[in-house]
Amino acid sequence: MDAEPNLQDDQNSNLRTVPVELGARSYDIVIGNGLLAQSGALIAKHPGTAKCAIVTDSNVAELHLDELTAGLGEACAHAGTVTLAPGEATKCFTELARLSENLLELGIERGDLVIAFGGGVIGDLAGFAAGILRRGVNLIQIPTSLLAQVDSSVGGKTGINTPQGKNLIGAFYQPRLVIADTDVLETLPERQFRAGYAEMAKYGLLGDAEFFSWLEKNWNEVFSGGAARIQAIEICCRAKAAIVEADEREEGKRALLNLGHTFGHALEGFAGYSDRLLHGEAISIGMALAFEFSNELELCKGQDAQRAIRHLETVGLPIKIGAIPGGTPTPGQLMDLMAQDKKVQAGVPAFVLANGIGEAFVKRGVDMEKLQDFLNRKCSRK
Ligand code: NAD
Repeated sequence: MDAEPNLQDDQNSNLRTVPVELGARSYDIVIGNGLLAQSGALIAKHPGTAKCAIVTDSNVAELHLDELTAGLGEACAHAGTVTLAPGEATKCFTELARLSENLLELGIERGDLVIAFGGGVIGDLAGFAAGILRRGVNLIQIPTSLLAQVDSSVGGKTGINTPQGKNLIGAFYQPRLVIADTDVLETLPERQFRAGYAEMAKYGLLGDAEFFSWLEKNWNEVFSGGAARIQAIEICCRAKAAIVEADEREEGKRALLNLGHTFGHALEGFAGYSDRLLHGEAISIGMALAFEFSNELELCKGQDAQRAIRHLETVGLPIKIGAIPGGTPTPGQLMDLMAQDKKVQAGVPAFVLANGIGEAFVKRGVDMEKLQDFLNRKCSRK
């Protein structure tokens, strides 16, 4: 990226459009302020939608639902809203069944629209429901958390968790449009914003050293809002779009987006997918471990690993297994949890490791003895 990035769409406004080119499944990500109020106009560019149902959680509903329903206007008939409990526990079979039946009761048919209005939990669950309802109804993602705006709303991964692990049941189902209204982030609790920032930093760490340097200098502005925040969200969406365009179904390059996730998902599983450790916090620890492990394997210089970890720590993200409140896992527990990861092939977990900042790669078949030894030390050290 450029150190001083240029405005793309309109020099006088902060509206940005990032296309995701997937042939017949192509769509735009629209990013900017005040977009809830314009949602009807944006949706009206996709003619043929008779009616819509909004799926949201109670936190987002209380803060932003009125603005969205007002913004929808006459663009499509509002059949109703399904409001679910906030939190990761909602991404489960029970809620999927309930939501699917609610959408049928609202009369959502093929050609109608499901609007996923919330963080990654709502996006993943409502996206999956839209994908299986009547074998697929239209889906628009209106992400309201930073994590959802830079990551989960783009690329079509949808799904739920099971007791066996995270996101093990799901489908690729692309939205027709993503509307990222950056104003809604003003109500996002700071801890949630910080957790989302881990996924933002991930794009720099995995493939864009210049963006990472820019974040090191400008992260304060990203946290405080305004043009830098919109700019950073756009860069992340462009990076994600490029990766998804190259590898929609994660048969190769898309796996790079899992930097920090093999360790991170195991840590989330240990913490019970709860507020004890948010997804982004787990990914932050996971990325720190991935860089440290890469350094131990002599893949990455110590100074690069330290730089990656220092930035995560500077913004207030956890970087050590010992930072998990309420106790730490044993190495054996982590190894077992990693063996459940959906990236496992023939029982061997895949890792995203790095040759340096912005130079991540997928490594299958890591030396399990070295991994065990590494975890023995990391699990015991505060
Ligand atoms: P989340 O959906 O639980 O949202 C976090 C919290 O913030 C919730 O309590 C929610 O109610 C609240 N919230 C959301 N927007 C708000 C707003 N504007 N104001 C106030 N409160 C708001 O969690 P998340 O961090 O957004 O997403 C995590 C989920 O995303 C995980 O399930 C993860 O597996 C998934 N994910 C999916 C992908 C993908 O590609 N599909 C990628 C990354 C993560």
